[in-house]
Amino acid sequence: MTATNDKAIVKEYFNATGFDRWRRIYGETEDLNKVQKDIRIGHQQTIDTVIDWLNTDSNLAGISVCDAGCGVGSLSIPLAEAGALVSASDISEKMVGEAREKAQALLQDSSNVNFEVKDLESLSGNYHSVICLDVLIHYPTEDATKMIAHLASLSENRLILSFAPKTLGLTILKKIGEFFPGPSKTTRAYQHREDEIIRILLDNGFHIERKGMTSTSFYYSRILEAVRD
Ligand code: SAM
Repeated sequence: MTATNDKAIVKEYFNATGFDRWRRIYGETEDLNKVQKDIRIGHQQTIDTVIDWLNTDSNLAGISVCDAGCGVGSLSIPLAEAGALVSASDISEKMVGEAREKAQALLQDSSNVNFEVKDLESLSGNYHSVICLDVLIHYPTEDATKMIAHLASLSENRLILSFAPKTLGLTILKKIGEFFPGPSKTTRAYQHREDEIIRILLDNGFHIERKGMTSTSFYYSRILEAVRD
């Protein structure tokens, strides 16, 4: 499958069945099955790790952050609440619509977060920090190289990525695959080798500052913070 095809399928999926499914997983409803509940817990841990890192550095207020592939705003909203100037974007207009609504409902002042429908490759500008969580699962490794290089070009200081690590094997891939039902069944879930992702970051002039790992029963995510040399 070509990258363009993959992207079109992902976009369609996150504007239809994928939107309903992931909005529920990332939301508040208690009406979830065991796997979905587990994924919600794991994903929240990934978000919490990133927020902890940024808070530890005590530099959240006032810095510009690009949240690339923001989903329903699970990261953007708490970052905006902490005072960061957040530019959030996603390929899916449904996800962006939900993120906007959530931000308006949850934030007293939502003026420091801006949500936009845009795919990663079309993003431009310069940001103190660029963060892209759980999006690489939609990119084959050969496309990941270009995608990460592009995100790196937008970052003045820091790039944080999370991805499903390859070492954990096909079982997980299949479990993740269960979340791509119906007409979008062909949507692929790609795992990545950590050494490969690190090599791409080093090639783009970054070094690894911190590493994190979230593992629950059905959710695995390696988190890397890369900082400009
Ligand atoms: N980063 C969010 C989070 O952690 O809450 C959302 C993660 S969700 C698993 C993946 C998101 O990536 C979806 O909202 C999807 O629409 C978005 N996405 C996938 N491919 C994309 C692309 N090429 N450009 C922008 N967004 C993309």
